Amino acid sequence: MIQYYAKEREIFKDAYDADLTDFELRAVFERLKSHYKFRQYLVFKGTSFRGHCTHWEIRLPHDTSLGLLVHEVAHAIQFKKLHLGDKPKKWHTKRHTSIMRRILKYINEKGEVWISKANLKAEQRIQTVEKQELKAKALVEFKKTPDYKLQVIGKRIKQWETKKKRAESYLKKLLRNKKYWEKRRDKNGRI
Ligand SMILES: [Zn+2]
Repeated sequence: MIQYYAKEREIFKDAYDADLTDFELRAVFERLKSHYKFRQYLVFKGTSFRGHCTHWEIRLPHDTSLGLLVHEVAHAIQFKKLHLGDKPKKWHTKRHTSIMRRILKYINEKGEVWISKANLKAEQRIQTVEKQELKAKALVEFKKTPDYKLQVIGKRIKQWETKKKRAESYLKKLLRNKKYWEKRRDKNGRI
């Protein structure tokens, strides 16, 4: 087993030398997942030199190499041919090596574009958040100004003026009613 790892690291030296951030690894992983259609999701845990693949998840140490990601993704592709709960008799076979080779060929064609696109998106997201924060800050500052206070007071005054008008017209109606009944009383004498 150790021999297999050593040999693999020799064959795919470039991939094992390529250290990526978690974010970059995830960007590559998501592309591979939609291309090869395996079901595992990706979690980062710890900082060892080993990864892990089950029917459901691929576990990688933080900030690891592209080689290790591809090693585990190749296992995910091996899992695709198995029923749930089954395990292959041997994990580290010639087939595993050839799957790795195929994945790396695919990554070499497009990987850089994926990563730069993902980084660009992240950058844009950060800028949007910063803009929103600036806006929020500006609003907090604006709320302290006389202009803002006057705006609020103006709105309240309008609300109360509307209420006042309504009260006045209702009072008028009541007074009219009162007069009507007073007249009727005076005509007919006391009820
Ligand atoms: Zn393995």
